[in-house]
Amino acid sequence: MELLPTKLIEKDGEWYQVQKLIHKPNLDHVETVSGSADEYYTYSELADTRKARPQQRRLFFALLSDIYTWSGMPTDFLKNLFYLQYESYTFGKQISLSDTTESSVSDANRLLDLVIDFMFEWHVPFKEGYKLLPREQEYYLFQCCRHRVCMICGNRADIHHVDVIGAGLNRTHVDHTKRHVMALCRVHHSEIEQIGSVAFSAKYHVPVDGIKLDKETLKRIGLKGKYSSD
Ligand SMILES: [Zn+2]
Ligand SMILES: [Zn+2]
Repeated sequence: MELLPTKLIEKDGEWYQVQKLIHKPNLDHVETVSGSADEYYTYSELADTRKARPQQRRLFFALLSDIYTWSGMPTDFLKNLFYLQYESYTFGKQISLSDTTESSVSDANRLLDLVIDFMFEWHVPFKEGYKLLPREQEYYLFQCCRHRVCMICGNRADIHHVDVIGAGLNRTHVDHTKRHVMALCRVHHSEIEQIGSVAFSAKYHVPVDGIKLDKETLKRIGLKGKYSSD
């Protein structure tokens, strides 16, 4: 993803983002995919351009230490491995989490996503890194659902459906294309049912309504029809 300078404009009560592009877009391609060469859809994400935070660095090395415990590969070797993976992932962009880094918070998050991905993929136990994990971050919560890992303790989890609609509403009128879900083990599942999601969220610093997944995503991670509505 390219970092684009963006200007915000308000006109007649509507808000517009104007982005300065680095190259002229491939207009043939734009027209093919959107049916118009000057009106089309893009994704937009706020880039956190502050310098990478010390707590991101701490999390990165705690995770590497967990991978070391699991694999015996030295953390220096692992660090270079993930830096290289980041480079190929971003088509040659350099990353560093040293004190004098030029990398941004967003860059560091992308690197951390690669490490977290790796750990979920290979079932590396989160130990040191677990208490530092970004539980409020959508990406982590999503990976927990995808790999059926409890977002609180890391044990084997089932999917808990969070009822954000409020009691008393007829379930048949609920929009079934979007679901609020959490990955919770048996213990944490009974706890949330016991103390309620507000107290649970305050105790463990997790979003009170879990994460919202659309039908496509639910299907992609194999959840369609497999979660109960309790
Ligand atoms: Zn748990
Ligand atoms: Zn439940």
